[in-house]
Amino acid sequence: MKITAIETHVCNARMRNWIFVKVVTDQPGLIGWGEATLEWHTRGVVGAIEDLSQLVVGADPARIEHLWQMMYRQHFWHGNGIVRSTAIAGIDIALWDIAGKVAGMPCHRLWGGPVRDSIRTYCHLGGGRMEDFYETSVDNAKQFGELATQAVEEGFTAMKTMAVPPTMPLEGNRPVRAAEACVVAMREAVGEDIDLMVDCHARPSPAMGLKFARALDPYGLYFFEEPCWPESIEGLARINAAVTTPIATGERMTHLAQFRDLFAQRGCDVVQMDITHCGGLSEARRIAALAEAYRISLAPHNPQGPVSTAASLEFGFSQPSYIICESVHADVPWRQEVVDEGFTIDPNGRIVRPNTRPGLGIEINEEEVRRHPFEQEIPQQVFYSDGSVGDW
Ligand SMILES: [Mg+2]
Repeated sequence: MKITAIETHVCNARMRNWIFVKVVTDQPGLIGWGEATLEWHTRGVVGAIEDLSQLVVGADPARIEHLWQMMYRQHFWHGNGIVRSTAIAGIDIALWDIAGKVAGMPCHRLWGGPVRDSIRTYCHLGGGRMEDFYETSVDNAKQFGELATQAVEEGFTAMKTMAVPPTMPLEGNRPVRAAEACVVAMREAVGEDIDLMVDCHARPSPAMGLKFARALDPYGLYFFEEPCWPESIEGLARINAAVTTPIATGERMTHLAQFRDLFAQRGCDVVQMDITHCGGLSEARRIAALAEAYRISLAPHNPQGPVSTAASLEFGFSQPSYIICESVHADVPWRQEVVDEGFTIDPNGRIVRPNTRPGLGIEINEEEVRRHPFEQEIPQQVFYSDGSVGDW
């Protein structure tokens, strides 16, 4: 069996261009689907996949680890920059899809069989609709409460919000009190039985991240995400040690050694490796093994397209420390037209039952993908009140 081609299929989904990766083999009908979506770097990733295809076309797709080593290590430059690690991930995920199809079983059964009966999902406020999730002002706490109520009405028992505003390296109480008001509004709207998460998008400095984390600690967040830049592991560790709320991070980390340093300093209690950015399912499994040694929970980052979701779920059914699957359902109204999925979601509680089809259990509708060709992503630029550059 040989790989004969690697194709990229770009599908514009408003804020993101989903990059679907199709690995084609010489066996009639045997293909694998991966995903390598990287907002604002679509052309770079598509080009990187074209570069990597020189290493893998003609090879046996069953040699997943060997091919991963080639893609990561060959031609001198290691594959740990975000563009290449994402390109590697797209191909690696597709190779696992092929491996499952060859074996006639879902990927999670290749990895030791299901470790749980179901997986809970969480949503973004507004279901991931860009304007609701990213653009609801923290000065509008009431709207946070209303969107949280709507998520519960849609069956979710957990949700994530952007309740921490862009913040200069040092600010007074105003942004902290605004964030607190949003969390209070959501807690009052949904009660204590619903899990709330706040994503800081690494907007604060470590000093401000600590202020936000302390202010929100009494409200019992399920986790508090990216309270400062991922480059500042000591900042993350300081915040994680200072509050009872578990700190989550890892979506911008691209290789095992970064996660080793993060875990060793106890920079988080929830790791959010992104399977489409960290080198794929092969590297995610290594990161998970390392996390297991520290009893750190797994909640992979997954706001992208449907192949990423299927990969996260297959991974989750095989990993004991996996706690919840991030999900987006309202980013574009035609999301379900693009994919046919092998798993089922119980609308009551938004609980996923395992896929029983081989591989990732998905089929991508290429005709529907072609209806949404590449468009330049909508810019997301942040400037502070003095005109200096901020973090989105
Ligand atoms: Mg995040």
